[in-house]
Amino acid sequence: MRTLIAGNWKMNPPGLAGAEALARALRLSAARAVDLLVCPPFTALASVAALLRGTGIALGAQDCAATGEAGGAHTGEISAAMLRDLGVSHVILGHSERRAHQAESDATVRAKAVAAAAAGLIPLVCVGETEAERRAGRAQAVVAGQLAGSLPDGFSGIIAYEPVWAIGTGLTPSAGEIAAMHAAIAADLATRFPARAAALPVLYGGSVKPGNAAEVLALAHVGGALVGGASLVAEDFLAIAAAAR
Ligand code: PEP
Repeated sequence: MRTLIAGNWKMNPPGLAGAEALARALRLSAARAVDLLVCPPFTALASVAALLRGTGIALGAQDCAATGEAGGAHTGEISAAMLRDLGVSHVILGHSERRAHQAESDATVRAKAVAAAAAGLIPLVCVGETEAERRAGRAQAVVAGQLAGSLPDGFSGIIAYEPVWAIGTGLTPSAGEIAAMHAAIAADLATRFPARAAALPVLYGGSVKPGNAAEVLALAHVGGALVGGASLVAEDFLAIAAAAR
């Protein structure tokens, strides 16, 4: 399995021109030994799709509707089929910011994963514990619960382990903590999806930067990284990609 470095641009850059400039800078990058995925905001998807066409850099969205309908009376929603039509191949689901700010439950994330897969998109499902949960010694139990609730039967896609307290804070778990969680997730997936667990990449996300990427990406069961802040600077994002061995 090739390492995947995914960029979550969140609600950035603030203007379309910034998103286009970032896509242009990525387009200039040399051939890579890893797979790259960028997930701009909805409003920049069409422009970034056009700019990245033919580069091998995959395009993802940051959410999709939970309904399996391609269209319908769902004000403000964007269906997975609409995203696919734009050239999107992946969709981030259940990011901790959506779980916290939009009150997305595991059941909602699961329904979105089903809708995404039905439309031919690859779901990238995020899980991760809060600081209080880790302090209470419940990190692995919380993540196991999120996996059980968010991944539909027959899941085929990507998982991102993102401790909530590491996102955008500059804090990261120790290498041992990341390795222990990824080993636990791998064991969990092997139990639930015995036939395909080895083909389900598990990314680490949370303050991955050029300076710590090599150590994180070298850990067992870490299939790549989901990168927030550092994905907004093309040279940092590409440096993280270059750090993968
Ligand atoms: C994220 O939001 O998915 C993320 C990992 O952010 P950051 O890299 O900024 O911590």
